[in-house]
Amino acid sequence: MSDCIFCAIVDGDIPGRIVHKTEHSLAFLDANPLAPGHTLVVPKEHHARLDEVPADAAADLFAAVNDLVPRVEAAVDADATNVGINNGPAAGQEVDHVHVHIVPRFEGDGGSPIHAVAG
Ligand code: 5GP
Repeated sequence: MSDCIFCAIVDGDIPGRIVHKTEHSLAFLDANPLAPGHTLVVPKEHHARLDEVPADAAADLFAAVNDLVPRVEAAVDADATNVGINNGPAAGQEVDHVHVHIVPRFEGDGGSPIHAVAG
């Protein structure tokens, strides 16, 4: 998609600090990290919402996330990670190309867990 910043990173048109590549997915460091090592994992093909990603690309995406979580934790000596997707603008999605956040967490870092929205 021509005006998508993550498509531009996938296509190599703008630089990204790429940490992992698979057939259907790319992982790179977040430009405004919530913690050191904050990584984004995206399907290479443009899809705005998770449910629009074809099954093979979704499987590849989550396999990449699964591979990356322990590697990201080890790289920054984190105690844990928040792994999540803001799926749609009302959920806080700002870049409309599906992306999984891997946010390293440290004991006592004072950050927030992902909470369910209270009904
Ligand atoms: P969202 O709110 O859509 O779930 O998260 C978008 C994420 O993309 C944010 O964490 C933001 O820092 C990151 N981001 C926005 N623009 C760029 C960019 O040009 N390069 C990289 N690497 N990350 C970006």
